Amino acid sequence: MQPKARITVAAGDGIGPEIMTQTLRILDAAGAALEPEFIHVGEQVYRAGHASGIGPEAWESLQRTRVLLKAPITTPLGGGYKSLNVTLRKTLGLYANVRPCRSLYPAVATRHPDLDVVIIRENEEDLYAGIEHQQTPDVVQCLKLVSRPGCEKIVRYAFEYARRHGRKRVTCMTKDNIMKLTDGLFHRVFMEIGQHYPDIEQDHQIIDIGTARLADTPEQYDVVVTMNLYGDIISDVVAQLTGSVGLAGSSNIGDQGALFEAIHGSAPDIAGRDIANPSGLLQAAVLMLIHLGQNEVAARVHNAWLCALEDGLHTADVYRPETSQAKVTTTGFADAVIERLGRVPQQLRPFQVGQNMERAAPSVRYERAPVVQQLVGVDVFVRWDGTDPAQLGQQLATLAGPLLRLKIITNRGVKVYPDGHPETFCTDHWRCRFVAASTAPDAYASVQFGQVLALQHRMAEDNVLIIKTENLYLMDGQRVFSLGQGE
Ligand code: NAD
Repeated sequence: MQPKARITVAAGDGIGPEIMTQTLRILDAAGAALEPEFIHVGEQVYRAGHASGIGPEAWESLQRTRVLLKAPITTPLGGGYKSLNVTLRKTLGLYANVRPCRSLYPAVATRHPDLDVVIIRENEEDLYAGIEHQQTPDVVQCLKLVSRPGCEKIVRYAFEYARRHGRKRVTCMTKDNIMKLTDGLFHRVFMEIGQHYPDIEQDHQIIDIGTARLADTPEQYDVVVTMNLYGDIISDVVAQLTGSVGLAGSSNIGDQGALFEAIHGSAPDIAGRDIANPSGLLQAAVLMLIHLGQNEVAARVHNAWLCALEDGLHTADVYRPETSQAKVTTTGFADAVIERLGRVPQQLRPFQVGQNMERAAPSVRYERAPVVQQLVGVDVFVRWDGTDPAQLGQQLATLAGPLLRLKIITNRGVKVYPDGHPETFCTDHWRCRFVAASTAPDAYASVQFGQVLALQHRMAEDNVLIIKTENLYLMDGQRVFSLGQGE
């Protein structure tokens, strides 16, 4: 007999306890070898004074089991509460968010009967690092941080996933025609790592047209790997195309642990009425069983679930008088799934047990290559309330001193000095680029950090309000900062 896997279970808020009870009943009836430890997270815990929504005992359980099956929780509005999901992702290093989306036609109405797409979303970086600042009265900023190790982990995960699940193609989506450094890195890493997977077809699409095509002809996609924000959006788009977001589960995978949950929220509007659809959480539980290597049980549960849907036993959210046989409660739906354990669906494609579907190999240790980093200038961002950029330009050109030269001033990325256009709309936020005085217009030469500090000192003395600086570097002789539009 298979040894029981310890898992941590959080029943959540709203409909959470109802759908969790029924999900665990089904898992038990299907013979899943599990030893659940129950923890409290969410609303009660927030209100008890833990701003992250999780207390120390829950962490202890997670450290023991490293696997969390979680029902949705209610995040109280306001009051400085932090998103529990973000805390769990960051603390457990859950770098991959995996959302398989498959149509259940004809059991569930959809315009895309052949849709079968897995979205693999980077889960830790990008704009979701949550580093935001207001810099001037006019301008706020959110930092988009993308790292090479972060890109390598998620891209390798996507290719490994494709291989283990018998998928044929991986499509990468970014916006690297605009964000050449951040999105460009993700795309470049995709191409580098892709070379090690010649058995998998691979392509790259710009996220805007890629999303449009996904929404129009999703059946042409297989596995999609993308960055955090884009993945957040397209995973909901594709889940909705299957007919209902209420049917999908997702996994959050890291080297140190994994979290499985439905993609919907705690639905307080229908809580306590035994009418919620437990399918999303049940799908999450199927993903968990695969992660634990209990593939046979995963297939039994999934196929029984397909049979119940195929037989037209539908909870209120997917019930349609034309296609459904009966409207069932949450408990009634779970009963229907349990009755069908051991059966295989007739119309819907049965779930196939793969040989290698358990957790992907842990990420490869990141090797940092030696790189020569050379300082060649600085962007000094200033608040300035004037309107004529030439006036600011002349002041700063004088302050540049003999060793540095003011090369360009931009406003929201557009060149306004020298030779700006009077039509350009300007805010109070100016980026002033200084480089070595001795360089030719398109060349770069070393600048000492002391010169950068001395420049800022002169500017401050002259009442220029510096709000931040970014050093300009060459890495192994290559420019790795963007040019201003018109530079
Ligand atoms: P929601 O997903 O809870 O509800 C949206 C609509 O879908 C509601 O009409 C609801 O009744 C319905 N619905 C959702 N799940 C259903 C199910 N299983 N069966 C039948 N109908 C279902 O989204 P919301 O109303 O925006 O959010 C409610 C709360 O959930 C908020 O506090 C939000 O912060 C939280 N939330 C939590 C998670 C999570 O824990 N992962 C995710 C999203 C939202």
